[in-house]
Amino acid sequence: MILEGAKQAVSDAKSGAVKSAYLVTCPKTRALTGYAMSFLLNLFCETHSACGVCSGCKKVLSGSAADIHTIAPENGSIKIGQIRELGDFLAEKPFEAAHKAVVIFEADKMNTAAQNALLKPLEEPPENTVFMLLAGSDYGLLPTVISRCENIRLLPAAREHAKELLEKEGVSADRAELALALAQGYYEEAAVLAEDSDFFAMREQTFSLFFKMMAQKTYAVSAFVAFFEENKERTGEIIDILKLALMDTLKLQLAGGEARIANIDQREMLTRMADGFTTGAIYNMIEKLLEHEGRMAYNVNFILSCESMLFEILKEKYRWLMS
Ligand SMILES: [Zn+2]
Repeated sequence: MILEGAKQAVSDAKSGAVKSAYLVTCPKTRALTGYAMSFLLNLFCETHSACGVCSGCKKVLSGSAADIHTIAPENGSIKIGQIRELGDFLAEKPFEAAHKAVVIFEADKMNTAAQNALLKPLEEPPENTVFMLLAGSDYGLLPTVISRCENIRLLPAAREHAKELLEKEGVSADRAELALALAQGYYEEAAVLAEDSDFFAMREQTFSLFFKMMAQKTYAVSAFVAFFEENKERTGEIIDILKLALMDTLKLQLAGGEARIANIDQREMLTRMADGFTTGAIYNMIEKLLEHEGRMAYNVNFILSCESMLFEILKEKYRWLMS
């Protein structure tokens, strides 16, 4: 499920001849995770075909492969300690497979000390070890880190071509169109989204709660907070759904019927919002979502932060709403 042109690391994995380091950039998180998954499956699959059923594939899918080490930000950044901890893993020979892989999520969140610590293993990689750095962009990465990696950039695809590919993978025409619009044209992102029925169910619920909240005449937020709590591990996705909906609302205000929005199936409700609020109110609502997102990176009280975000959004609604 990867476009021609961005396939390099994955086809290297298929051939078993991988480079020592790849840097894959894309502003879409699911696209990056999907790419890394496809790479690891092909690399660790017993037949290098991402068959999904051999013991190598099963270990990758269950997250129990001893030869894969993953690193992700803790409290907002990747620190030198996390890179140093790699030492023992790198010193050993592969345990089960022919390769070892280090995957660094949100690599652009490595602080400078961590990046400097990573330079040595990137420069002199242990035999049969491959690094995969995933990042929204290479902004924030040291040129020395970037230059030691094969650079792969995932780009938006031509809409019709991407839709055709998704349909070939068995995705319905409607779902393909919506997934591509939500993914803003990034095929790899749309491919992961289209398969994620939980996401679409959660999105339905988010919209239903959100539109209800925008229509109500009180400050009641408990149902929405409970929903956030139930889906705590996917809270980032819920915030993204709301952000995208508000961005669409702004576009509808500016361009009306001509607006190219992401939530193509919600045009009617979003148009109603666009007509009901000032541009300033919508900007401020987006800001409240971003503030909540920022707080989440620092382990603040989850429920309290949700409550305050929704309350602040309602305050915007009442402050600007004329009727
Ligand atoms: Zn396999």
